[in-house]
Amino acid sequence: MINNLIQEEKKYLIGNYARFPVAFERGEGVYLYDTEGKKYLDMLAGIAVNTLGYSHPKLIKALEEQIKKLIHVSNLFYIPPQIEVAKLLVENTCGDKVFFCNSGAEANEAAIKLVRKYFYDKGRPDKYEIITFTGGFHGRTIGSLTATAQPKYHEGFKPLLQGIRYAEFNNPESLKETITDKTAAIMFEFIQGEGGINPIDPQFLETIKQIAKEKELLIVVDEVQTGIGRTGKLFAYQHYDIEPDIITSAKGLGGGVPVGAVIAKDEVARVLTPGTHGSTFGGNYLAMVAAKVVLEEVLAEGFLTKVVENGIYLKEGLRRIGLKPKGYGLMVGVDLPESISAKEIAKKALEKGLIVGTAGTNTLRFVPPLIVEKNHIDEAINILEGLLK
Ligand SMILES: *Cc1c(COP(=O)(O)O)cnc(C)c1O
Repeated sequence: MINNLIQEEKKYLIGNYARFPVAFERGEGVYLYDTEGKKYLDMLAGIAVNTLGYSHPKLIKALEEQIKKLIHVSNLFYIPPQIEVAKLLVENTCGDKVFFCNSGAEANEAAIKLVRKYFYDKGRPDKYEIITFTGGFHGRTIGSLTATAQPKYHEGFKPLLQGIRYAEFNNPESLKETITDKTAAIMFEFIQGEGGINPIDPQFLETIKQIAKEKELLIVVDEVQTGIGRTGKLFAYQHYDIEPDIITSAKGLGGGVPVGAVIAKDEVARVLTPGTHGSTFGGNYLAMVAAKVVLEEVLAEGFLTKVVENGIYLKEGLRRIGLKPKGYGLMVGVDLPESISAKEIAKKALEKGLIVGTAGTNTLRFVPPLIVEKNHIDEAINILEGLLK
């Protein structure tokens, strides 16, 4: 079965993914089942996407009911569930207004356009530069790819977008040196996900805040991976004393249904007047009813407390088997020594029925569904312990 799939895929699909030799057929809670009926414990959640795991009854019910009524109408008309989801996002963040799109890259593209238009409307079109950081990841479209300060992703795709400058992550001096009179915004992740689960240094965050205030720069936080409860708060910025001007979200927001969002302060949001930006599918009925269920569940009493507890429990388990975890909430990474390949471990884990991710150069990544329980974490640690021996 799988060998046949591998051959057919080679024949018909563009080969831009290095896939594991597994195809899943169904899922239940934190478990997935492949086409041969083999069961897997999922500590990757579709790369931090499946917030509520698989076959969540409320998500299924909401989607089923919506499918029977309407799937798509376009943004030429009012879409009531967009208002409901936006209200939930606004009431639970420092943002005032929301724009919906379909992915993380699109959310970051919209953020870049917002920054430019904000200063343009202020009569400062000369202020358009955005500073991003080494090791960051913001997406694969040309704008978001340019914002991604990792040369390996740029190879072969130049020329990139103008007006994006890089500073070294967690290095205040580097940031100060990169600021110019043209600087308009600073854009970053609180925990660099694809870059290797690298948390921001709180001191560095202070520097960002100070400089942004002093130079009147916008603060854009890419919460595509860290958002929607992943770190134990709805958004990671809520762990700190900071109010970003623009927050981008995607991945976990739809619980598996594609959706992205930009949440912005009023002063910034209002520059996107009719005709300046848009998306055919953005805020589609299916995406919206899914996002509503996800947000309601994540915001329910006690949910995020459990994410924090289980995150600590996961880190304790990793320490017990001799590893040094980093990150927080249910966004945890472990750097492996050069002698052990993270990719190899992920492959071997899969054979043992455990799905883990990799990130950065040699980091194992744990971003399980947020509904994971302690017994699942025990199971994952046991399998890993066996593999590392
Ligand atoms: C995954 C990711 C993106 C890109 O999201 P897509 O939906 O793949 O476009 C952007 N930023 C961060 C921090 C991400 O983790």
